[in-house]
Amino acid sequence: MSKYPLALQQLIASLKMLPGVGSKTAERFAFQLLTWQDEPLESFAEVIATLKTKIHTCPACNCLMDKEVCEFCDINKRDSSLLCIISSPKDAYAIEETHMYKGLYHVLGGLLSPLDGRTVERLNLPPLLQRISTLQIREVIVALDSTLEGDATALYLKEQLGKSAIPVSRLALGLPMGSPLEYVDGGTLSRALTGRHIF
Ligand SMILES: [Zn+2]
Repeated sequence: MSKYPLALQQLIASLKMLPGVGSKTAERFAFQLLTWQDEPLESFAEVIATLKTKIHTCPACNCLMDKEVCEFCDINKRDSSLLCIISSPKDAYAIEETHMYKGLYHVLGGLLSPLDGRTVERLNLPPLLQRISTLQIREVIVALDSTLEGDATALYLKEQLGKSAIPVSRLALGLPMGSPLEYVDGGTLSRALTGRHIF
């Protein structure tokens, strides 16, 4: 890599900052970009350069927005009695895809992970507690990853929100769609058993 021209080395170094992109892939991407015509290359650069000015986060829910009004906070279209807590703005889009939820969101901005230095102070918690006390919320839905960090964060939220007498629910954790029982790991299976329901 050190033999490459400096600008190419810089491009490769930037591409390597993306998740899942190692040296080989970054080099392949960089050489591919060199073959692009000027116009698509410039528009690609423009999209990246203006990303942060075109997209910002909603001051209330921290979801992404590119208009004056946050579509996730629009009380004319959303059920403001439900609040769903998610870790990243991306999760809102995954939940919207289901067409099953029309409530509000609140992005925490991460999960608790003391080993990585992500402590309670790093989460977007005070605005959450503020919103819950001002909005007429009838249920808070915790929609966090099914990981150690997700579990720790959910538990912490439950403790914090438990004081408010508003029901706090968590997404049911169960079997992945289309997976035969014999291939499901023990942890998933035991949680699916715990979260079973009468049908
Ligand atoms: Zn919003």
